[in-house]
Amino acid sequence: MHHRLTITVLGSGTSVGVPTIGCACEVCLSSDPRDRRLRPSVLVSWDGHNVLIDTTPDFRQQALRAAIRQLDAVLYTHGHADHILGLDDIRPFNFHRAEPIPVYGSGPTIEHLRRTFSYIFDPHRSESSRPKIETRVFDHQAVELFGIAFEPLPLAHGTGRTYGFRFGSAAYLTDHSEIPAETLERLQGLDVLFLDALRHRPHPTHSTIGKALAHVEQLKPKRAFFTHICHEVMHAAVERELPPHVHLAYDGLEITVETGG
Ligand SMILES: [Zn+2]
Ligand SMILES: [Zn+2]
Ligand SMILES: [Zn+2]
Repeated sequence: MHHRLTITVLGSGTSVGVPTIGCACEVCLSSDPRDRRLRPSVLVSWDGHNVLIDTTPDFRQQALRAAIRQLDAVLYTHGHADHILGLDDIRPFNFHRAEPIPVYGSGPTIEHLRRTFSYIFDPHRSESSRPKIETRVFDHQAVELFGIAFEPLPLAHGTGRTYGFRFGSAAYLTDHSEIPAETLERLQGLDVLFLDALRHRPHPTHSTIGKALAHVEQLKPKRAFFTHICHEVMHAAVERELPPHVHLAYDGLEITVETGG
């Protein structure tokens, strides 16, 4: 079956966001809205369904800005604070649905959520409202959501492990220092590929603009977008240096992908 997916970039920034607290560098002071980066997340929408990848500490602001009215599922890449700490802010979406919101992650990520948000999982009744979620662990199998298969793709994040997702002819890979060979094999024939590209200088747990460009060269997606960007990257200056089919993502960017079932 044919679907038209819309990927909305809710946040394109690194863990501390841009501008960064206490910083007066030219990017943090930039008036270009593309240099204002909330924490990294995308929303994938099709046929009236909304699937969120990660709940950042900026999630409330991101959901209001993108006017998200409904949330059908959350997929987690990993358990770092910049990707999970907005989980409590999904509560308003529970008001509009009877069923809990399904939340998918690897075993370690779901364990991490249980520790970090122990109050959500506390079996005792609470006077205060808590997110109503149902956790579901994925291993290597695809997560099937409303006719689209989200394939978890293992990635190395320093010595840690994260997951990217391929869905139809698009893939979203944040937070990685290396892409393992088994994952590279599953990134062929893409229309759209998102990659971690923190900055130019090397970093132990993140990819760089140079490494991301090398992956684009190797994998040849029709279009590529770089994300998880820090304040060393001035949007206008770096965008100008990139090949025509490669772009820096920015908050609010919407990309449409046509995909066959
Ligand atoms: Zn991150
Ligand atoms: Zn700065
Ligand atoms: Zn991380």
